[in-house]
Amino acid sequence: MGKGFFEVPVAVNEPVKSYAPGSAERKEVSETYNKMYNSTVEVSLYINGKDIKTGDTGTMSPPHDHKHVLGTYHKAEKKHVEEAISTALEARKKWSVMPWEQRAAIFLRAAELLAGPYRAKINAATMLAQSKTIHQAEIDAACELIDFLRFNVQFMTEIYAEQPESTSDAWNRLEYRPLEGFIYAITPFNFTAIAANLPASAAMLGNVVVWKPSDSQIYSAKVIMDVFKEAGVPAGVINVVMGDPVMITDTLLASPDFSGIHFTGSTHVFKDIWQKIGTNIHNYKTYPRIVGETGGKDFIVAHKTSNPKQVATAIARGAFEFQGQKCSAASRCYISKSIWKDVEKYLKEDVASFKIGSPEDMSNFITAVIHEGSFDKLASYIDQAKKDSDAEIIAGGNYDKSKGYFIEPTVIKTNNAKYSTMCTELFGPVVTIYVFEDDAWEETLHLVDETSEYALTGAVFSEDRYALETAVKILENAAGNFYINDKPTGAVVGQQPFGGARASGTNDKAGSKLNLYRWLSPRMVKETFVSPTNYRYPFLG
Ligand code: NAD
Repeated sequence: MGKGFFEVPVAVNEPVKSYAPGSAERKEVSETYNKMYNSTVEVSLYINGKDIKTGDTGTMSPPHDHKHVLGTYHKAEKKHVEEAISTALEARKKWSVMPWEQRAAIFLRAAELLAGPYRAKINAATMLAQSKTIHQAEIDAACELIDFLRFNVQFMTEIYAEQPESTSDAWNRLEYRPLEGFIYAITPFNFTAIAANLPASAAMLGNVVVWKPSDSQIYSAKVIMDVFKEAGVPAGVINVVMGDPVMITDTLLASPDFSGIHFTGSTHVFKDIWQKIGTNIHNYKTYPRIVGETGGKDFIVAHKTSNPKQVATAIARGAFEFQGQKCSAASRCYISKSIWKDVEKYLKEDVASFKIGSPEDMSNFITAVIHEGSFDKLASYIDQAKKDSDAEIIAGGNYDKSKGYFIEPTVIKTNNAKYSTMCTELFGPVVTIYVFEDDAWEETLHLVDETSEYALTGAVFSEDRYALETAVKILENAAGNFYINDKPTGAVVGQQPFGGARASGTNDKAGSKLNLYRWLSPRMVKETFVSPTNYRYPFLG
């Protein structure tokens, strides 16, 4: 603290704009989308505040229009990754001792830039790069990212204020130091907000970062970096490398100065990374922090007393928004027999009414899945379900990749509670339903708990308080974010800290203080005002 006990502005959630027909924000984002669609960009590596072009490039295309080229990005070689490490360590000398209010001001400024001048741009980039509808882009790229920045600044000051007791003769001061070394932030394609938050939350606390975005999110990652630059993040504090994920990861994990990983992505990639960290453990100067939020196989369980229309709506939104490509998306549903007919009717009506196409047409509810690999995987599970005797496709089931990677929202019904699509994370617009006997509530809850390796999100519906209480108990470890009479998606920063355990991650709750503690290494300073001069205690006589 420099020359005052400063208070930051109280964080409030950024209001979600409606983008209703005729609104000014809809016009602005449409115009920005068209402008970006009709021009091309070249995305460089960003190391030590400089754009680096390597000449080895990849192309970027919208998933809903994959023959169209949005631009190119440059891929790193090993030497660039090593340069990112050394530049980060050099930047650390000044950044780690920068007064906190200066760091806070930079990230609060980034939030305001996103809320105002960059809002249409970050949303249009997310619509183009990741095929989000305008609503999905707004709640992610604009609002959630603004919330992460504002709330984390506030949480940072709350942590700094947490101090031990002192006495009149000794003053105890806890200093929340950044980690010694650099942090590796490695991010998934599906949330622009997560992509920005993983490097930003660590950097905000005085750490330096090497960030590797997903190949499928580089177009919106570029806008994030433009915002960080304009907000005043100094050169070398956040460095961006793109390209071969294995080479980049191996190079960063081989450094003795590697001090932590902030990862979000799939479970198997995180487990491989953890193993590599273990192999390198004797080389590191400090025990690295390992934070990873990974996959999910998220459930909805509906008791016989639940409202069928509410359950159907939760499935329609929870399973299909953003094409089911949310780690929290409902993908396995357990519905009590006596309400199933009604749930089925409403769900089929909803799915039949979904409009599918480009996010440019804002009346579309569903757009494309992220890339051909994802499309092919989803198509193969759908084809298999058409063949299997224990599965039946009751809605959707078609797909077409001629223009974009479009998978029709698909509902599979199975009489096999362990059918493959009840257990495996597919990460697309496919949900599987299992109908259980009305009197098998407890048995079904145990089934939910034991069916998947994951424990990210889950929802239970019932009007019976005893049934809810039983579910809360039996499913205690089945989800890190547990919903009662609500869909399992849509966590809001500051309201529902997010993360799961088991194979879903280290449950360090992004968007809360719990996450920020992982990027700090406290130093306890005890200052004694008048030091003793005689070693003998009174009991010695
Ligand atoms: P992904 O695992 O394919 O990629 C994540 C990142 O890891 C990317 O930057 C990618 O380039 C990199 N990567 C890929 N293979 C690698 C390797 N062998 N070594 C090192 N790095 C590698 O995940 P994705 O497809 O981008 O995102 C979807 C996954 O992320 C899903 O499993 C989803 O559940 C999960 N996710 C979880 C959360 C959460 O909070 N729990 C949030 C969002 C996404």
